[in-house]
Amino acid sequence: MSEIFQRLASVKETIVKAAVIAGRAPDAVELIAVSKMNPPEAVRDAIDAGQLIFGESRVQEARVKIPMLPSKARWHFIGHLQKNKIRHALPLFELFHGIDSTALARDMGRIAEETGARPSILLEVNVADEASKFGFSPETLMREMEELLGFERLQIEGLMTIAPLAEEPEHSRKYFVALRELRDSLEREFRVALPRLSMGMSGDYAVAVEEGATLVRVGTAIFGERSAEVERLKAEG
Ligand SMILES: *Cc1c(COP(=O)(O)O)cnc(C)c1O
Repeated sequence: MSEIFQRLASVKETIVKAAVIAGRAPDAVELIAVSKMNPPEAVRDAIDAGQLIFGESRVQEARVKIPMLPSKARWHFIGHLQKNKIRHALPLFELFHGIDSTALARDMGRIAEETGARPSILLEVNVADEASKFGFSPETLMREMEELLGFERLQIEGLMTIAPLAEEPEHSRKYFVALRELRDSLEREFRVALPRLSMGMSGDYAVAVEEGATLVRVGTAIFGERSAEVERLKAEG
């Protein structure tokens, strides 16, 4: 058995346990295997182990990697999308987790109109209000939701957040609760359905499942540590 096979099995088991603790159906949680900065061979191992949904955070990398892999693999974009990459990204990804401003949504809507695409998106919320993070503040999202709902080409399916880096998974809980409660408020206020919540990474996905995540984005716990060299190159852009 490959190491990836074993790690995947263990992550899935953790998801099931957390769902059961919370009284949720385990199959209400989709596991996104975050394959960014991992080679196609690692993705192939995960596909062989039964994983079909993968997350990438850079369009350039995904454009090279995706065509090398079986077409049954499905791809989610989880990063910050630059406006000049929208056109390339649209045909590659079935869900965009990180739509983090109204300006980006507007551009995406316009390009989707031109190309006939109907992208499914999640709005990224910076619930902890960290200066270093992308995303709508809850207040901005409340204010701009009406306009966002007017971009007819975009299917807004829910919200996404990244909790602040912490040693303890429990530290993430209040941010996951805040995202869920913001979702509930938006649904009431704007009479829309926002069924999907993307929250939880390798360090805190069990807590996220307990708090209602329908998508968890797990990289390191499946593929192992990403190489320092690649992280360095990424930091340099
Ligand atoms: C890299 C990344 C992940 C996965 O992080 P791990 O800690 O390796 O599980 C999840 N979400 C986003 C947005 C990421 O950029």
